Formats: sequence, C-alpha cells, structure tokens
Amino acid sequence: MQSDGRVKKALVTGGSRGIGAATCRALARDGWLVYINYNESADKAHDLAREIGGRAVWADVSDEEAVKAMFDAVGDVDLLVSNAGIAHPGQIQDLTEKDWHRLFQVNTDGAFYSCRAVVPGMVRRKSGNIIIVTSVCGVWGSSCEAAYSATKGALIAFTKSLFKELGPSGIRVNAIAPGVIDTDMISCFSAEEKAAMAADTPLGRLGTAEDVAELATFLASDRSGFITGQIIGCDGGFQL
Ligand code: NAP
Repeated sequence: MQSDGRVKKALVTGGSRGIGAATCRALARDGWLVYINYNESADKAHDLAREIGGRAVWADVSDEEAVKAMFDAVGDVDLLVSNAGIAHPGQIQDLTEKDWHRLFQVNTDGAFYSCRAVVPGMVRRKSGNIIIVTSVCGVWGSSCEAAYSATKGALIAFTKSLFKELGPSGIRVNAIAPGVIDTDMISCFSAEEKAAMAADTPLGRLGTAEDVAELATFLASDRSGFITGQIIGCDGGFQL
C-alpha cells in the first residue's frame, strides 16, 4: 500500500516460471498487486494469479506492439521487474544468426520495450522502481554462452545509463546478476554437471528462485530507497 492508500502495482516479465514466478509470489506476500507476464506458459501464469491474487497478462516481450498493448491494458505500474529471458548454450561456430538475434530480441529488446513503456508514467509521478535481471554471464562472460552473455552485458550497460537518466525523476534502476539458479533454464545440464557447478560455488550449492526473489523484494521496497545504479550479484560467490 502506498502512503496515499493506493495499492502498489508491479509487473514482472517472465513471471510464469522460475525466478519470475518466485518474485511474483514474494512481491504478493509483501502487499504488491502483481501483474504476471507470460508468453507460452498461460496455464502456469493463470494458476499463479489465482494463488497470489494477481493478474496474468500476455505479451511476447520481443514483440514491440504486444508489449505496448500489455502496458496500455495494465496502466501505470510502480515497479517493473524485467526478468523474461532465454538461454542458448553452444559454441560460437554452431550459433546461427537467427539464434543470436532471438537472444537479443527477448533478453535485450524485451527489457528496452518494457522500460520504455513504464517510464513516462513514472516520470509523471516522479516515482518508480525498475529491476533488471541480468546474469553473472554478463559480468564475467561465459564459455559457450557468448551470445547470451552479450545480451546480459548489454543490460548491465543499459542499467548503468538508465539510473543516471531517471534518478532526477525519483526513479531507481538496479540490476540483479544471478549465478547458477536451479530453474528450467538449466534443465539442459545433467545432475553431474549441476553438482560440478554447485561445487564451483563457494557456498556449495546452486541458487534457488527464492534466493533471487528475496533480493528483488528488497530492491522493490523502501528499505533500499537510497540504492540505485547497482548490479547486485545473487550467486553464492560463483565467478565464471
Ligand atoms: P526459466 O525458468 O526458463 O523462465 C523463463 C521465463 O521467461 C518464463 O516465465 C518464460 O515465460 C519467460 N519468457 C521467455 N521468453 C519470453 C518472451 N519472449 N516473452 C515473455 N516471457 C518470456 O528461467 P529463469 O531461470 O527463471 O530465468 C529468469 C531470468 O533470470 C532470465 O532473464 C535469465 O536469463 C536470468 N538468469 C537465470 C539464471 C539461471 O541460472 N537460471 C542465471 C542468471 C540469470 P513463458 O514460459 O510463459 O514463455
């Protein structure tokens, strides 16, 4: 609830599964009205909306018109969590131009379209909060994930620019850089490979979607009111 009695509205892109879904649950627990964006997982998004008293809203974030229509329907939001993302592991010689562009369309263009949609309302109200989900891959780079890492590195530069532009309007912009988080995104790895990644993590385990969600809710709250422009790891100490 805002000080004027208005319910706080958040929209989480890619809220249907994984880190996004955990973030939707945690935000709802903290009193937010949560709009759960989904692309392909309609049933999961609608089930989650029923569970947390939120609203499921469709848009493929790589589709500029669809993103605009979604935000037009939702109206002003106080918080955007730009989380939707895809990965495409593989050696560079096996990466097609189509793969490269699709990664940028979803991971990077999607964040741009979403931020551009929420900013005018936030500037008008002189208040707002944007959280962008990047990755340790964007910070350190990652073998066999050059394209994915490039999309996430772009989001880091984007965050580091946007917070400067929007700070004077009372808008905070931060990014979360998760390490290896046990969601569908890493289902391509075997149990042995996951065990090896856990062993490479100083805290000795993979992260959970809830680990990331708790950082997101902190950044969403007034408890982090003087924090902006930060790229905050949630990685158990993992470095690539
Ligand atoms: P996930 O379990 O695979 O979930 C991906 C989410 O993104 C789903 O909700 C999916 O929605 C959504 N999404 C994908 N393409 C979309 C599109 N075109 N339009 C709208 N939504 C779309 O992945 P996750 O692990 O939770 O990843 C969430 C974010 O964290 C991503 O940005 C990812 O790069 C980042 N991250 C993950 C890890 C990790 O180890 N898991 C590490 C670092 C960063 P639908 O199912 O409805 O299509």
